Amino acid sequence: MEQLKISKLGFGLMRLPRKALFIDHEQVSKMVDRYLAAGGTYFDTAFIYPGSEQAIKRALVDRVPREKYLLATKLNAALPPLQTAQAAKHQLDTSLERTGAGYFDYYLLHAIMDGNVSKYERMRLWEYVQEQKAAGRIRHCGLSFHAGPETLDRLLQEHPETEFVQLQINYADWESANVQARANYEVARKHGKPIVIMEPVKGGKLANPPDEVKRIFADVHPEWSCASWALRFAMSLDGVMTVLSGMSSLEQMEDNLMTMQTVGEMGEAERRALRQAQSQMGKSTAIPCTACKYCMEGCPKKLSIPGIIEAVNMQQANGQADRAKAQYLAVTGEGRTAGTCIGCRKCEQACPQHLPISDTMKLGARLFD
Ligand code: SF4
Ligand code: SF4
Repeated sequence: MEQLKISKLGFGLMRLPRKALFIDHEQVSKMVDRYLAAGGTYFDTAFIYPGSEQAIKRALVDRVPREKYLLATKLNAALPPLQTAQAAKHQLDTSLERTGAGYFDYYLLHAIMDGNVSKYERMRLWEYVQEQKAAGRIRHCGLSFHAGPETLDRLLQEHPETEFVQLQINYADWESANVQARANYEVARKHGKPIVIMEPVKGGKLANPPDEVKRIFADVHPEWSCASWALRFAMSLDGVMTVLSGMSSLEQMEDNLMTMQTVGEMGEAERRALRQAQSQMGKSTAIPCTACKYCMEGCPKKLSIPGIIEAVNMQQANGQADRAKAQYLAVTGEGRTAGTCIGCRKCEQACPQHLPISDTMKLGARLFD
């Protein structure tokens, strides 16, 4: 059977729409229908995204013939913390049960960082996914990656069976010393691995960048949204399989689909605007948290870390002090204030952006407690 063509826009299922605390299944079904109707084919979930695998069963697997879509999920050796190799391997069984998909088109070792890469090796998970591929439960094996180019180069040399690589790439992080997007991209290209791009809009931050960046973009293409600029940057790179966007509403989806359907070669004016935006974003002092929440599971104080960082960012931005205080109070109920952080840095080992979370909690305590 011929493999379904992968669409340029992938539907990331980490930020599904919610009604109060719960995933809004009716809305997810509408988004799935709209995405498929526009030619979308690639859905990306993970064992650790709360409720996501179950939601895609209801909205997609139970409603659409299996050959009409491609489904990716991921195995995470570091979350939950302290799990055994057996428990990590059992994630695939659970993902298959939760989704009812029968097999996964794409299966990734998830969120590999310098602090956890040895776990994947010690638990022999590279070998495990190959066994599962041979058993027909996985079609293609890859990894999602959050460390530096030296580690990526080593892993791709040691594991040439890796078929594709998922990388954090966006125009703001292209030259960032933390994320090293360009350097990782070049390593993946050197090894001839197709690339899935994650965080092209940086957890939504690039949909609403500073005013100066908005002006740069509006001067060239006022009809493109800022999110569209960010997606176009990612889609214009060579060797890209698909660009994931974690969509939370039909409105975001419509904008992203319009981008997918109209994206073309970047001209010199567009490239210049992106370079200027990149340099402007480099001047921003905001802490670049993407609200992925990977840090929260291991926090002994159960702090709402991304919520506190958001409040700190608002406080540091001019004229947002009232909103910042309201945000802080909303996320620090029940005594979970920034000042209760004990500085253990467990969160920092889990943060794909390598953020100085413990120091930021101290700053939050100084600003708000
Ligand atoms: S350093 Fe603070 S925020 Fe981070 S895990 Fe420890 S207590 Fe939680
Ligand atoms: S601090 Fe890091 S791990 Fe936590 S939500 Fe932000 S980016 Fe994700």
